Amino acid sequence: LFCKFVTGELATDVVAESDSSFAFRDINPQAPTHVLVVPRNHYANVAELAAASASETAGVFQLAAEVAKREGIADSGYRMVANTGPAAGQTVFHTHIHVLGGVSMSWPA
Ligand SMILES: [Zn+2]
Repeated sequence: LFCKFVTGELATDVVAESDSSFAFRDINPQAPTHVLVVPRNHYANVAELAAASASETAGVFQLAAEVAKREGIADSGYRMVANTGPAAGQTVFHTHIHVLGGVSMSWPA
């Protein structure tokens, strides 16, 4: 599914992008701000991304930080989540970072 987002085949609410990654709103938001950041190249999960490319890994986190600034949650605080594997609830196997904010959260969950 995300590969189609990445190639622009599906309309998405893109909120930020860079050469190596882009960010769009989750269609089923779990917080007032819920944005997904994905690398343009395909990696199944964040471990595969990290093993393959330090620059693309950095790019994803840099864009996530930029999203937090643009969404106005950088100062109040926000969460970055990379669910990895079925037991963690990963359901789309094109790696993505959730940026969640705009609400006070507890930990864990
Ligand atoms: Zn993919």
